[in-house]
Amino acid sequence: MSEPLSLVWLRRDLRLHDNAALYHALKSGRPVVPVFIFDRVILDALEDRLDRRVEFLVQEVNRLHDELAKLGSTIIVRYGKPVDVWKELIGQYSIGDVFANHDYEVYAKERDKAVGELLSENGIGFHTSKDQTIFERDEVLTGKNTSYTVFTPYSRKWKNTLTDFYLKAYPTEKYVKQFWQTDPLPVPTLNDMDFQPVGEPFPGRTVADELLDSYNKTRDFPAFPHSTSQLSIHLRFGTVSIRELARQAKEADDQTFLSELCWRDFYFQVLDHFPHVEQYSFRREYDQIEWRNNEDEFDKWCRGETGYPIVDAGMRQLNTIGWMHNRVRMITASFLCKHLLIDWRWGEAYFGKKLRDYDLSANNGGWQWAAGSGTDAAPYFRVFNPTAQAQRFDPKGVYIREWVPEVDQSSYPRPMVDHVMARQRAIDTYRKALAKV
Ligand code: FAD
Repeated sequence: MSEPLSLVWLRRDLRLHDNAALYHALKSGRPVVPVFIFDRVILDALEDRLDRRVEFLVQEVNRLHDELAKLGSTIIVRYGKPVDVWKELIGQYSIGDVFANHDYEVYAKERDKAVGELLSENGIGFHTSKDQTIFERDEVLTGKNTSYTVFTPYSRKWKNTLTDFYLKAYPTEKYVKQFWQTDPLPVPTLNDMDFQPVGEPFPGRTVADELLDSYNKTRDFPAFPHSTSQLSIHLRFGTVSIRELARQAKEADDQTFLSELCWRDFYFQVLDHFPHVEQYSFRREYDQIEWRNNEDEFDKWCRGETGYPIVDAGMRQLNTIGWMHNRVRMITASFLCKHLLIDWRWGEAYFGKKLRDYDLSANNGGWQWAAGSGTDAAPYFRVFNPTAQAQRFDPKGVYIREWVPEVDQSSYPRPMVDHVMARQRAIDTYRKALAKV
């Protein structure tokens, strides 16, 4: 019988460098081969067969396949339900151990539990490591050993704890001889999985030092072509190492950029500690709000036809390129929850369909922030004024004109709702809901 293999199950960590699970596998002494599963449970639920995330995954899995072929090895790629695929792999290969990196979503935790049990029944070890965050679950806690629910004290503790030790790279390149030497195996195509290519290039995977230099001044202005890093899709799928990026920000002493990476960790630990946020408000009393949930108004918001130019620009940017600038995400989300009184879960789901960087924890955190129901909620009576936001963050209307070229013409719709009326309606509705508890 051939020597048992160490399999590395890649999920949100599609890279060979600085990868914790891969490093531990390479050090296990057995021949190592990565595995990637296009998860049918997730893919079958996607309505749109043009999906940037699936296209990105296919591109990146092929890149790994080619990098591994150069090392005389391969990646095992399957399309199916994870537990079923693991049953097949156990039947097909002699497997000694399986390595993977932690995943914090409810579905992922259940999936890993089921696969872990299956492996254990077959006498195979399942070893998991932290990789996609700098600090996870219980590493940054309050003085009373409880999880933080407010960002500012969390970020203070996060930054104080952030020594170089936590940013050290896992030197996988030293152990590449451990990769299983074998012929390349095939990778399913988009077509095999019934998807079509969108065919647009994805943003690059590096961040220029100049961007870090100017980030704290430009990051709120969506008209700047490079006001932010656009690395979110790479962080989502782990094609960039979070440690490497944080190291670069720390060396440049860019506290603002580090804070953004901290928000990312913060929302991961919120989801891990408070999994109810996936369906309910973090502050449960906010589930008493009587949303208006008008479907025609929701459609206008989705299409970017609200008559508020900054809201429409953001929604059209999202619909066209699958990405929206952070400042505008905040404005469009607030508009849906407060001005239209539409349940934040509707907006969250729409962003979930469209965002190329869709990440449950950050998206849920962003939406609950906008609705006021989340961890770090601004008081509900603070309602963004979309016109004032546009004047402040897009003063010359450059961003607006890029996405809403007809904004100055008579064909452009009038605001679908009056700001003063909508603001008061939101405050009254929230007040009524919160008075019930
Ligand atoms: P940069 O400004 O260059 O920031 C660098 C990285 O820091 C980002 O790539 C991201 O990983 C992280 N980051 C920055 N801001 C945040 C934040 N507020 N919360 C968590 N992480 C952050 N981000 C996602 O990655 N996926 C989502 O699905 C998502 N949905 C959002 C929904 C709403 C309503 C809001 C208000 C924000 C959402 N964000 C989400 C956070 C933020 O808007 C994006 O991370 C950012 O716009 C991505 O662009 P960038 O890579 O150029 O960001």
